[in-house]
Amino acid sequence: MNCIPSSRLRALLLCTLLSAACGTQVADSEEAADPLAYRLDIVVQPRPLDGMVDVTMRLTQSRALLRELRLRPDTRISRLRGDGELVQDPGQARWLPPADGGTLSWTVAVPHRRNGDGYDAWLGADFGLFRAEDIIPRASSRTLKGASSDTRLRFRLPAGWTVVTQYRDDGTIRIDNPERRLDLPSGWIVMGDLGVRREQISGMRVAVAGPVGHSIRRLDTLALLNWTLPELARIVPELPPRLTVVSAGDPMWRGGLSAPQSLFLHAARPLISENATSTLLHEIMHMALGLDSEDGYDWIIEGLAEFYSLQLLVRSGTISATRHAAALQDLAEWAQDASSLCGLHSTGPRTALAVGVMTQLDAEIAQKTEGEASLDDVTWALVQLGEDLDLAGLIDSAAGIIGHKPDALHSGNLPGCRSIQPEPVTN
Ligand SMILES: [Zn+2]
Repeated sequence: MNCIPSSRLRALLLCTLLSAACGTQVADSEEAADPLAYRLDIVVQPRPLDGMVDVTMRLTQSRALLRELRLRPDTRISRLRGDGELVQDPGQARWLPPADGGTLSWTVAVPHRRNGDGYDAWLGADFGLFRAEDIIPRASSRTLKGASSDTRLRFRLPAGWTVVTQYRDDGTIRIDNPERRLDLPSGWIVMGDLGVRREQISGMRVAVAGPVGHSIRRLDTLALLNWTLPELARIVPELPPRLTVVSAGDPMWRGGLSAPQSLFLHAARPLISENATSTLLHEIMHMALGLDSEDGYDWIIEGLAEFYSLQLLVRSGTISATRHAAALQDLAEWAQDASSLCGLHSTGPRTALAVGVMTQLDAEIAQKTEGEASLDDVTWALVQLGEDLDLAGLIDSAAGIIGHKPDALHSGNLPGCRSIQPEPVTN
């Protein structure tokens, strides 16, 4: 239930589909022939004993295509250095590189505690586990009109270490998102003496990776995904082409966190909890749906993820209908501790309440369409829309299917949310 918002699903799909189509065999000379491409070579070098990562970003360009990079480095970043001009203000840095290219470098203190309880980013003597966003600050660019980056990522690792990311990796990782002019790596990264199991499931290249000796349930995880991902593919017909699950034990935070095409799950988390919910499938739903919300409507995102994590289990026959009903009843009892549905963050009782709303909405759609439609249709429509979600968007999407505002989304059923009327239905 603790989640990192995913970036746009469609962007990911396009990104990875294109890189798969182009492959990584395209000759450098051909790429250099693109007069509007500047090359960014990012090299990541961990120093495990210090918990530090050194990052260099080398810019190669024949003329001043990239004029300026604006970065938002957080407090873990130090020793930011750059050729050309580097202007550092609190919370922001501007790099104005030389016209013929140059190098920007920095150091990151990786370990980061989540809510003071376990680490959601870690680098130590035995392994490293963090997101690309932890070590490469998000940035925007100012370029010659039409110019875009050709970004490559490489790692310089200690002897005996390997690395797994969300990307295809043949020594150099190519970061290529056609919807962005500046491509930077994203998603979970694990490095160390790794054990990795890979499989192709429902068209997705699935990897489960983590350091050896951490009791990671790699094959159990693949088994559960073999049962459930075919059901996911029916709900989300256009799945991302890759799914990388990274895991480790302590001192990592004891939960699950999703990111683009990847997720982290603590090795001690059960794949299915005693109440029949699944942190793994909850995070996979976030990753697959790729939905973000407007402020106050996190319950829609969390409610869908939890509702569908249970649906994946019951539809695949992994749990019985009786156990599914009991799980919903448990959530309904937990939901009584929630005083409101709308709010900045949805966790615990609020998400349990949201699951109840989604369950009612699903039943209402099925009943009013005589079984022709379900919440699946609303969800897929919202994914295709690709907009940050709010209550009006959910109401409009459901009303578009049943012809009117659903009873399940009337204000009396949504404590703490103001009344919202749907757009008129025209069909
Ligand atoms: Zn969540």
